Amino acid sequence: MNNSFGKLALWLMIGVVLFSVFKQFEGTKRGAEPTMSYTKLMEEARAKRIEKVEITRQGSAQVLTVLSKDGKVSSLVSPSDIYMVNDLIKEGVDVSARIEEEKGLLSTLFFTFAPTLLIIGVWIFMMRQMGGKAGGGGPFSFGKSKARVLDESNNTTTFADVAGCDEAKAEVKELVDFLKEPGKYTKLGGRIPHGLLLVGPPGTGKTLLAKAIAGEAKVPFFNISGSDFVEMFVGVGASRVRDMFEQARKSAPCIIFIDEIDAVGRQRGGGMGGGGNDEREQTLNALLVEMDGFGSDQGIIVVAATNRADVLDAALLRPGRFDRQVEVGLPDIRGREQILKVHMRKVPLAQGVDIASVAKATPGFSGAELANLINEAALFSARRGGTVITMNDLEEAKDKIYMGVARTSMVMTQDEKRCTAYHEAGHAVVGCLLPASDPVYKATIIPRGRALGVVWRLPNQDRISYHKNKMLADITVSFAGRIAEEIFLEDISSGASSDYQNATQIAKNMVTQWGMGDGLSPMIYTQENNQIMMGGGTGHSINMSQSTMERVDAEIEKIVATQYALAKKLINENTDIMHAMAAALLQYETLDAEQINDIMARKPVQPPKLINRDEDKAVDQTGGNSPASPAPAASPPAPVQASPAA
Ligand code: ADP
Repeated sequence: MNNSFGKLALWLMIGVVLFSVFKQFEGTKRGAEPTMSYTKLMEEARAKRIEKVEITRQGSAQVLTVLSKDGKVSSLVSPSDIYMVNDLIKEGVDVSARIEEEKGLLSTLFFTFAPTLLIIGVWIFMMRQMGGKAGGGGPFSFGKSKARVLDESNNTTTFADVAGCDEAKAEVKELVDFLKEPGKYTKLGGRIPHGLLLVGPPGTGKTLLAKAIAGEAKVPFFNISGSDFVEMFVGVGASRVRDMFEQARKSAPCIIFIDEIDAVGRQRGGGMGGGGNDEREQTLNALLVEMDGFGSDQGIIVVAATNRADVLDAALLRPGRFDRQVEVGLPDIRGREQILKVHMRKVPLAQGVDIASVAKATPGFSGAELANLINEAALFSARRGGTVITMNDLEEAKDKIYMGVARTSMVMTQDEKRCTAYHEAGHAVVGCLLPASDPVYKATIIPRGRALGVVWRLPNQDRISYHKNKMLADITVSFAGRIAEEIFLEDISSGASSDYQNATQIAKNMVTQWGMGDGLSPMIYTQENNQIMMGGGTGHSINMSQSTMERVDAEIEKIVATQYALAKKLINENTDIMHAMAAALLQYETLDAEQINDIMARKPVQPPKLINRDEDKAVDQTGGNSPASPAPAASPPAPVQASPAA
């Protein structure tokens, strides 16, 4: 209402000013237009044809208005002729003079200041527009909070939308009660928590959870990112914090959600960051003061999210501020299945899509990545003109997310294909032969991203910790690609560089960090200084003597050499399987776990199974989705052996 009134007033003002200026211009123009020359005037006067001349001063000029005896009126600007009046009187012309009426004081003021007022008006208008659209941006709203508000009627998120983090959900459910009925708790002397800190990697659903609290409690949701407070000017952040709390107080009960709180909440005074710290500290101080400032019965709960609770200032974490911390970690296999179900509700699924096996095949995926997986699968389905999402679409989407798009257009010579096939066969065969290795899930010689081929080994269950035998197996499998090239091909390729890097890194970590080197003391052997310069965190570094370094190096070399020899032995003992695996890879390009297991058992290899044939029949999702067809044998990408393109 206010805004439209302001707009109307502004347009009226612009209109009036333009009209006046135009009128003024018109008037001046018409008055000054000569219709007779001075020579002609004098000629006419001498011929006694002029009745009257009136001299008018207009600004610095004199205008003559001439009335001829035949009644014609003409005008001209008078030249500076001091004899003119005498000459005219001599010819019997009636000469009179007058000063043109002065403009009133008001109109003079108006015409003097109108252009300036107009410019200021337009500027204010533009700034207000910018401020409104950018959610508080623009010079006039620098100190205004940039929080986006989602009011309760527009927030449809509930706990049902958040899957796979049951512990976190259970912890925050109580807050819904607090927000709905603060009195119930305060009556008994309980203190409603001011702040809740959600800690976890990106994409695990922290924002979603905060939104669900607001959605369930039916209260407004203020959403802002820590980085929105930070500006170049000292004091702006602090003023934004105050403004945000001011707004929140008006809408209480409500939730304020601050994403990436570490942008403002890092430990104070610990870093060497120099400039910019003043601003951050002031902002943090303002946040602390505001959090102390509202009473527990006001019903404002500040929920903050971070990936790095360790860098936060201790003052933020003390009781009365973010005194509740809730871990929102990466989902486990069951969690992934639940998240997939939540997102699959929104898309048409083919019968036979086995959600459990997709969950199994995606360890390390966050909720956001799982949502993206389903979106990618939907795009794959749409691209091939499908009406439902099939297991193949999901598989294709997963491959794309893990390894990049298949480079089907890449031209590979027969020799290159053969080289890649033996290289990948080496990884696959040794991977299958070592019991400590994760089962081989898939092998392919279709180039993807930077890799010419890939062998995936996936654990049967999510891994929580890694063991020495598994690490040794990984090193052995890494070397197997190059060894296969050496044994079966005339020449070796550069495709093993990342395998070597991988193997070396594992061996190095085993010896220097995980105390797995024989004959070394149980301590960390690393010279790397991990000190976090900016955050003031601590790291560890030791000074190693030359002889210690030599012992460490010797131990790393021993591990690497032993596993290299083991890989060579295994391949040499199974050359028939190696040939069969490479031939199958050349024939089918991608082998699934079943085919790989057949080859390992020296059985004839069958063509790959199409996981979904009845893809046009969408599954009825109202009653949940029960897996109808067998799914791929295992899942995702623990160590993926990829041979990068040279
Ligand atoms: P964060 O705040 O932890 O970075 P978000 O809450 O912004 O992550 O998650 C981004 C998106 O990922 C969500 O909008 C949702 O679609 C999906 N998502 C993430 N975690 C979950 C979950 N636990 N359940 C359902 N969807 C999830």
